Amino acid sequence: MTDVSISEIEDIVYRDVRLTQGSAPRFYIGGEEVDIWSDELSFYHTLTTVDYARRAITEAEKNGLDVFPEIVGKPLEKELVKNALYSGSPILFKGDRGFGKTTFSKAVAKLLPPKLLAVKDCRIHDDPVHPACFSCKWKVTHLERVELSWVPRIWVRIPGDPMLTTRQLIGGVSIQKLREGFDIDHPEVFIPGRALKANRGVGYFDELGAIPSSLQTMLHELFEERQVTTSEGDIIPMHVDSIEIASTNPSNYRGTSAIKEPLLDRMEVIEVGPPETVEEEIEIAMRNMYYTRRFGKRPPIPVWHQRILAQIVRSGRSNSKGKVQLAAELSCRATIKVFDHVYSRVERRGASVPRLMDYGENYEMIKLALNGRVEFEFGSRTTKNDFINYLVNEAMKAECKHVYDEYLPQDNFEVFVRELKSLGDRVQGGWRISLSEELVTRTSKLPLVSTVLKKMGAHDSETKLSALEVVLNSLSLCSDIVAKMDHSYVVREAGDHGEAAV
Ligand SMILES: [Zn+2]
Repeated sequence: MTDVSISEIEDIVYRDVRLTQGSAPRFYIGGEEVDIWSDELSFYHTLTTVDYARRAITEAEKNGLDVFPEIVGKPLEKELVKNALYSGSPILFKGDRGFGKTTFSKAVAKLLPPKLLAVKDCRIHDDPVHPACFSCKWKVTHLERVELSWVPRIWVRIPGDPMLTTRQLIGGVSIQKLREGFDIDHPEVFIPGRALKANRGVGYFDELGAIPSSLQTMLHELFEERQVTTSEGDIIPMHVDSIEIASTNPSNYRGTSAIKEPLLDRMEVIEVGPPETVEEEIEIAMRNMYYTRRFGKRPPIPVWHQRILAQIVRSGRSNSKGKVQLAAELSCRATIKVFDHVYSRVERRGASVPRLMDYGENYEMIKLALNGRVEFEFGSRTTKNDFINYLVNEAMKAECKHVYDEYLPQDNFEVFVRELKSLGDRVQGGWRISLSEELVTRTSKLPLVSTVLKKMGAHDSETKLSALEVVLNSLSLCSDIVAKMDHSYVVREAGDHGEAAV
């Protein structure tokens, strides 16, 4: 393209090029001519990112589908995101790290088609009908045939880095280089920054407040007019069609590395908090566990373990005791890792269903997940070790109460306790029950114990053993019928409400 005159280039650089069917060149994909205006291909160009988002939202809602199935719970947040997208507004997700801001931005990207038609080799995947870079503008207006290619869905992370430069964020255009004889496609003529690379996709400004304030000012134009003006080299406005999403930590919202007011005025703030219910917390953990992602199926963790593990993190968040102040709320990543480490322990001993011992003798597996994530406010006097022990014990107590109320027979409690005794060996002061696979086979002859295990959804022997363990543990925590002794449980002789009442 050395025969391009500079005046032609200068003319095209500032022109907004929009093709119509009549004014378009012939388009080719892989050497084959294609009709981009056909029903088959017309969906993949001309439409803007907001057009795609609006269509996808309308379509999903018409069919009663969840627009963001990747996001667990958060109905209000989803509603707000849908509405903001519909209005073409940039969104600022505000929330502590690890509550799904990034996941949300990726879920928004999924509203875009999985692939788009673009001018081949364009560094910002230009729409052939409405290109932004001057190389593409020149091609579609001057050439008779233009090669196109398919580009996959675009999601570009723009890290909130205090050292971020204009060149990295916006990029530059140099007409001077063209004058010096550089080719129109030469990488030094046009250097797209990340905001431009997000063209036709989602630009995700991760920790927007950490972007230097001088650069934040350059984003006003992008967020308001979907345009950036290159400031390196020649000052040239370029339209960018992307859905702009940003995130911020509440502590960075206003403060040392704040988002400047004029920029805030150009986005809708949507708060993203921790999961509202323990069920949502569990769902997030089970979905994102290493095992699930690696093997494409969920590990058989019984619901009582799920609840204990999730509750450990949740009570760390809303620490009711008030004696400890955490510097940051425990993220969902903490929950996922608690599940991961306990389950790895299960796998390592060749089993598939967790037992309490998989938490570690002193809950080491839980600590492995939480030690680095628990951060106290300055001046807290508790140790991490004590704090985590406290969280585990509280979570166990809560679950044991749940098991006690939910599954244990209220009417024939005495008979139930007698059945448990029959599983034990006579020792001084009671009957010692040692948990083993053999024990499980013996429960089949005990009608009430069998009913309880069935009610708990325990059908295979490993799950039955786990259920039996949690039942005994509940009785040891919620009553004085059972005492925990090392690795076994003793159904007490004295204080056995059962026999006395009969
Ligand atoms: Zn281009």
